[in-house]
Amino acid sequence: MSVRVRFAPSPTGFLHIGGARTALFNWLYARHTGGTFILRIEDTDTARNTQEAVEVILTGLRWLGLDWDEGPVESRADGPSKGDRSPYFQSQRGHIYQKRVQELKDKGFAYEDEGAVKFRMQREPIVIPDLIVGDVTRLLTDREELEPDFVIVRSDGQPVFHLVNVVDDLEMQITHVLRGEDHLTNTAKHIALFRAFGVEPPKYAHIPLILNIDGTKMSKRDKGASLTAYMAEGYVPEAVVNYLYLLGWSPKGNREIVPMEEVIQLFDLPQILRHNARFDMDKLQWMNWEYIRAMSPTRFNELAIPALHKAGLSTSGFDSSYIHEALATCKEKVKLLSDVPAFTDFYFVPELAYDPDAAAKYFVAGNKGRLLKLRDDFAELTNFDADLLQTTLKKVAAELGIKVGELVHPLRLACTGKTIGPSLYHLMTVLGKDCVLKRLDEAVARMG
Ligand code: GLU
Repeated sequence: MSVRVRFAPSPTGFLHIGGARTALFNWLYARHTGGTFILRIEDTDTARNTQEAVEVILTGLRWLGLDWDEGPVESRADGPSKGDRSPYFQSQRGHIYQKRVQELKDKGFAYEDEGAVKFRMQREPIVIPDLIVGDVTRLLTDREELEPDFVIVRSDGQPVFHLVNVVDDLEMQITHVLRGEDHLTNTAKHIALFRAFGVEPPKYAHIPLILNIDGTKMSKRDKGASLTAYMAEGYVPEAVVNYLYLLGWSPKGNREIVPMEEVIQLFDLPQILRHNARFDMDKLQWMNWEYIRAMSPTRFNELAIPALHKAGLSTSGFDSSYIHEALATCKEKVKLLSDVPAFTDFYFVPELAYDPDAAAKYFVAGNKGRLLKLRDDFAELTNFDADLLQTTLKKVAAELGIKVGELVHPLRLACTGKTIGPSLYHLMTVLGKDCVLKRLDEAVARMG
């Protein structure tokens, strides 16, 4: 039988990093087996669920590249694309739950109790055969011992989580339920419900939790808990995905950077680690840097240009080869995409804003003659190539009898407004002769 898995988030307005990992593991398992990955929004709690909260989930999954295989295709002017399917919404499936509740009543497994509907829970302990943690025997709590039956439809008519979750797994013919270990306490109830419907339960695989680096439980407020924060802070989706699959799964040989295509081939449930994973922000940052350095220039542009726009820099009016060359000078240097604007803004602004401390230090009368000489020698060049610029600068320093650094710092400030940034000679090549000469004139005009 072909594998059918699902990610079934409740829209809380937040996509927890643990939820993102659950989605990823389900998706990987579907892709590994050639099965089907379903997205089901568990939004029966109408008081809490909003459209924005659903959007947070959809945007997050799309950002990670986790496309789902079923659900109506949303029509778009430019034609449907795979990621534009609508997920399943439990809020639209009320009639199915009603029918199933009736079935339980008819079979004697459910009964009315003070306006609510209760499920007649089996009294014997239930063994959960879990593919990750092994067999788990769930003993009843004292309260459940006294009252093992539980509500499946509230007195206001709302079906509760246990019911809708099971009915949908059954209706959608889910073969494997991969979900967070925090759901292990619900699974006995779910197995009992499946049995009451006369259906074999799916296979369960409960994924250990993600803890903070210090071993404490990750809460919503912890830094690093929300996927949206990574999207906003300039992380690269492929790095986040790579980091997430290492949180609880490990290929042989302790490899860390593993391309997605390979993970799809290797991923299987027995390799999901049984112990809780610890979230290591430094490692994620390192991985992000590695990904940026290794990615193709085209992919880098695809991610870096929106980062520029987000920071309020406009790239319109610049031709694409200029933008491309400008960005290429910072690719090796930035750790986060959100670092790109500060590294490259001088390429895209008509007027530089100089770092005031650096200007006080380098835009002094004593540097005026030196920069003017440099300007004149640069003006002579017919080819504004990085090596030639460097040779010229060295020659001018030698003629003036000063160290190269004494020219480099004011020159960098004149060209970029800052003291750090891309390689000086390369950035001058990208800016081009006219711009560099103009910026030197502007700097010299400030030197008393
Ligand atoms: N709506 C549940 C949650 O967000 C889904 C649990 C499950 O995957 O079965 O935790």
